[in-house]
Amino acid sequence: MSNYTIAIHGGAGTILRSDMTPELEQAYTDGLQQALDAGYALLSKGGTAVDAVTIAVTTLENNILFNAGRGSVFTKQGLHEMDAAIMDGIDLKAGAVAGVRNIKNPIEIALRVMSNSDHVFLSGEGANEFAIKQALQIEPDDYFFSQFRYDQWLAVRDSDTYLLDHDSKLETSVKDKKFGTVGAVACDTHGNIAAATSTGGMTNKQYGRIGDSPLIGAGTYANNRTCAISCTGHGELFIRSVAAYDVSCLMEYKGLSLEDAMQVVVNQKLVAIQGEGGMIGVDAQGNASLVFNSEGMYRGVRNNIGLNEIAIYK
Ligand code: ASP
Repeated sequence: MSNYTIAIHGGAGTILRSDMTPELEQAYTDGLQQALDAGYALLSKGGTAVDAVTIAVTTLENNILFNAGRGSVFTKQGLHEMDAAIMDGIDLKAGAVAGVRNIKNPIEIALRVMSNSDHVFLSGEGANEFAIKQALQIEPDDYFFSQFRYDQWLAVRDSDTYLLDHDSKLETSVKDKKFGTVGAVACDTHGNIAAATSTGGMTNKQYGRIGDSPLIGAGTYANNRTCAISCTGHGELFIRSVAAYDVSCLMEYKGLSLEDAMQVVVNQKLVAIQGEGGMIGVDAQGNASLVFNSEGMYRGVRNNIGLNEIAIYK
């Protein structure tokens, strides 16, 4: 039996420390612990890494505090368009969806694309239709409404593009960095690894905009020979960096450890192009790393040799 590990994130754009209240911090911590424990419980019963990351991400999607599933941010049109991906490190099988609407758990569609279709990536209407055929749960727009996300959107919706979302003045005015994606990576008792990521994207994003989260190799990647990675941050920069796959390449071709490879990508390569964010990773020996270049990253990690940690800031 291998050591087993699960790591999760709830986004790299944490509320500024100065605006965090003890109650809110407790709510985030509880939400993260609940997702971590759900995945860990599955691993401890011999469950697969794929099932563990799915249940952890589903738990976070159902929590309104995180920008995925229920708590997804508003697009420029005041809608919710969600992206998700999952990848199995055993055989590089992957499933992804982009721009899905009204589906309770986008990660479930990604999982079905991986296991019940001949495709890897479905978008928009086609992805929604597939979800309906797979009998996945649909929810009305109201389900995805939260006052907090609505207020964030009101503060920026008259700006021209979602890029203005990252304008420091706007960020100060809405007091939130707006990266909120959720993700999980796991190594199971068989030494197999998997990654899953799910997001509502970025507040006020252009209709049809797709971030890094559902792109295999950019925001999500898993390969038993190297690592499983789930990213969060300014998606465009993670796409241009092919960030998740770059960690795998540094391990495969340069022999770097998981931690060293993640440090190079997050704190050198992404920083060099102002790519703010972070990522979580595991390898097939059960090592985990959680690396970010932002003020904080909602995160947690638990393994079978006593590690069980939740953290938000550096
Ligand atoms: N990476 C996500 C995106 O660009 C955002 C996030 O991490 O919150 O869609």
